[in-house]
Amino acid sequence: MGRLEGKTAFVTAAGAGIGRATALAFAREGAAVTATDIDEAALERLAGEAAGISVERLDVRDDAAVAGALCGPAPDILFNCAGFVHHGTILEVTPEDWAFSIDLNVTSMLRTMKAVIPSMVARGSGVIINMASVASSVRGVPNRAAYGATKAAVIGLTKAVAADFVGAGIRAHAICPGTVESPSLEARINAQPDPAAARAAFIARQPMGRLGRPEEIAALAVYLASDEASYTTGAIHIIDGGWSN
Ligand code: NAD
Repeated sequence: MGRLEGKTAFVTAAGAGIGRATALAFAREGAAVTATDIDEAALERLAGEAAGISVERLDVRDDAAVAGALCGPAPDILFNCAGFVHHGTILEVTPEDWAFSIDLNVTSMLRTMKAVIPSMVARGSGVIINMASVASSVRGVPNRAAYGATKAAVIGLTKAVAADFVGAGIRAHAICPGTVESPSLEARINAQPDPAAARAAFIARQPMGRLGRPEEIAALAVYLASDEASYTTGAIHIIDGGWSN
């Protein structure tokens, strides 16, 4: 029997990378998964890959769409995975970059959590998993000014929710990966003047000498979503190949 048998899960940014791997892992463990993203073609491919996954276009920056998508009974598991990496120091962050990063990386999670928490409280249970990063309050990383600030905010928000709703049976977790293979990482590497050198530099900062795989992060998400993690809340779960050690 799967570890998430009988549970419902709602995943944002499930079209690619860690969100996709996690939607598949949740389904494999028996959950009924609602996989959402703005990339409808990616969602279609995902739907064809596993039973137990229904797909739905959702832009997490859209207040009304989020409220609509989560207006019914809350899922047992909410995985907030959507996020964007802005490259640069604070000198390269425009007001528009800053507002975009805050909205997509942090406010989106406020939206989904505000939509589900009342129903989770009424039911007396719920698991929230928020995607942060080692580039945050865990580590200062060059050229990640807006990104690190937003991911530190995700950690603070997760801890606040965990503290406020621990008595209501809600667990809230932050996952902090190191560098993980994904389409957006590929795009960031290929956007550099010397992609091979950029890839080597990403790998070099991981003491294990390799990048993480989305499936490795998904395995942690499965554990946190499952009843096996029943004594865990408000914690930062670092999974980074030893980068922050
Ligand atoms: P990715 O960035 O390659 O894919 C992200 C997905 O998000 C895409 O399918 C895209 O269509 C979707 N998306 C973009 N804007 C959206 C929106 N407004 N609403 C809904 N969906 C939207 O995937 P990834 O690299 O695995 O990153 C996933 C999360 O993990 C992000 O929050 C990222 O910051 C975090 N993270 C990634 C790494 C890494 O090295 N890959 C490391 C630490 C943290």
